[in-house]
Amino acid sequence: MMKNILTNKCPHCGIGRIFKETNIYFNFRRPQMYGQCPTCGFNYQKELGFFFGAMYVSYVLTVAQGIATFLMASPFFEERFDLGIVGVIAVVLVLLSSFNMRLSRILWIYLFKEYRK
Ligand SMILES: [Zn+2]
Repeated sequence: MMKNILTNKCPHCGIGRIFKETNIYFNFRRPQMYGQCPTCGFNYQKELGFFFGAMYVSYVLTVAQGIATFLMASPFFEERFDLGIVGVIAVVLVLLSSFNMRLSRILWIYLFKEYRK
């Protein structure tokens, strides 16, 4: 399942893609999503506003990445809470924002893959 999540695959058949672009990692274009799986027809958007909840997943990912960046960057600064770290964290989070948006939607689809309306 982790492999399917990280390779942008449908939770139902594991073959069709969720996002139209093949590279979900370093792609800064506006995400293009399929409404349904092109292979099995699995409906990705369960109801109107379904992906509003993916915002919470994105928030958790962003906080975790911010903390990880702080822990990795802090040895390179003399003071424990140097303001320069904030700039480093901001740059990392901006670079990861497009990836987080895609990953959070994929995780949200996988969380509710059993839910049928
Ligand atoms: Zn499918």
